[in-house]
Amino acid sequence: MTRLHHTYSRLSRRSLLGGVLGVTAVASYPLRQAHAGEALASTGEKILLTDNDLMDLQNSISGPVILPTSLIYDEVRRLWNPAVDHHPAVIAQWQSLEDIQAALQFARSHNILTAIRCGGHNYHGLGMADGGMTIDLSPFRGVEVDEANKVAYVKGGSILRNLDEATIPLGVATTAGVVSHTGVGGLATGIGQGRLARSLGYTIDNVRGVKILTPDGRHLRADATQNSDLYWGVRGGGSNFGIVTEFEIQLYDFDPTVTSISYTYPISKAADVYKTLFEMGEVVPNAMSLGGGVRTNANGETTCSLGGNYAGPMADAQKILDPYIKKLGDPLRTRMNEVDYLWLQGIADGDLLAKSATYYQSGFFNHVDEKIAEEVADYATQNTFPGSQVQFGHQAGKMAKVAPDATAFPHRDTKFQFTTDVHWADRRDGPANKKFANDTWAAVKPMSSGGFYVNLAFGPSEADIREAYAGNYDRLVEVKNKYDPDNFMRLNVNIKPTTAG
Ligand SMILES: Cc1cc2nc3c(=O)[nH]c(=O)nc-3n(C[C@H](O)[C@H](O)[C@H](O)COP(=O)(O)OP(=O)(O)OC[C@H]3O[C@@H](n4cnc5c(N)ncnc54)[C@H](O)[C@@H]3O)c2cc1C
Repeated sequence: MTRLHHTYSRLSRRSLLGGVLGVTAVASYPLRQAHAGEALASTGEKILLTDNDLMDLQNSISGPVILPTSLIYDEVRRLWNPAVDHHPAVIAQWQSLEDIQAALQFARSHNILTAIRCGGHNYHGLGMADGGMTIDLSPFRGVEVDEANKVAYVKGGSILRNLDEATIPLGVATTAGVVSHTGVGGLATGIGQGRLARSLGYTIDNVRGVKILTPDGRHLRADATQNSDLYWGVRGGGSNFGIVTEFEIQLYDFDPTVTSISYTYPISKAADVYKTLFEMGEVVPNAMSLGGGVRTNANGETTCSLGGNYAGPMADAQKILDPYIKKLGDPLRTRMNEVDYLWLQGIADGDLLAKSATYYQSGFFNHVDEKIAEEVADYATQNTFPGSQVQFGHQAGKMAKVAPDATAFPHRDTKFQFTTDVHWADRRDGPANKKFANDTWAAVKPMSSGGFYVNLAFGPSEADIREAYAGNYDRLVEVKNKYDPDNFMRLNVNIKPTTAG
């Protein structure tokens, strides 16, 4: 065990640096003492993993196998959302494609409930199997850039920082999320909303192809011409069809100096802020992405704000915004400056909320108007829980230029995404916070256009999942039937195959 801990700390440092240094091969990790124990089968019953089983697993891979008896177990099983406390029977960290294949084979032969962990950001804890096995891809990081063809080849365990750090200094970029330690694996199989999405589309719209390990052990290329059904499904259908070992992502020429925008107003202006946001949302250029709403900060101050970013000079941003902003009167605070995009992509990384339990409700709006602004403001202004937010985020632009059936994600006519998120440090505050988010969403949902972003979901029902995929649901079931007929990949927003018993 001592050796196991020692080698982990080396790996841990390397995973932090993975995108910069790449991952190097390591010798295998002999598991000196295995501890037989119970695990959860994918069908729900308990199974026994013997010492020999665990030794076999360790002997088949070069990365470490981490058991509940390990001193590092709690560190490795920790996820971004501290409200999630999952205890896997076994965690295996992988170095190479061969490792991931061996892990998959082990999981399948023992029929263990299996999760795939990349950045560990899934709010509901889908990246860690409670009682089952977790295949931790986080050491499997790295990005190669083909500058001539403007393509990034991204390993399936990479985080967004790996992608940005490999591309932006070269004068190219793609569109991904707004926090640099989010996993590419979960984000780029969800939709991938980010600061450049209005001008470049969702991340899934820029995935030109994937290499994917399907549950039957095949390592397939999926793109517009090869396995095109799989390519269609993996762009929005999450981990339902296999483990993506490599994403091929489109890059664009990019000037990294962008304008960051933020105006803060007293809470009495909430309805006007929503109205102004809706009005501007219809007219500003795609280079500008806006959002805002009501927020209570950590000190209990509730204000409303409006902000975003513009891929261009500050003077131009000012000219676009001024006519609308002037109508709102004097803000409490204004911050507008030109910043380096790579810096901006990390600005929310250390947010205090990252240490708090989190809960979300969200949905899409293809129509917004003054009445919606007033009704949402009525609920939002009751928001006094520290860290809570009731926000609308700008969509449309290039995101709306893709047909609803071109990828698994159908809600292409969305103008704004509504989110209400709550955060708490003391678990006794959880129920009241969740009630606020649930009550707010219950009031707002009837005004929405239906559907939600699956990556923000907390245990959606089958009916919710059908609503999320709308007209694409039946086609997703067909793809699932073909590539994962036993529903091995089930720790996700699950598309149930009709072939499974
Ligand atoms: C702080 C924070 C900021 C966020 N910001 C954004 C944002 O700006 N834009 C946005 O769109 N979303 C954002 N999200 C939501 C994010 O998209 C989801 O949480 C997503 O699930 C995170 O992916 P992950 O790899 O980090 O998660 P994990 O918890 O590791 O995995 C989540 C799911 O993805 C699957 N998965 C992971 N890797 C792979 C792979 N290689 N192949 C197949 N399936 C895989 C897993 O099976 C699991 O079901 C944010 C989340 C957080 C916590």
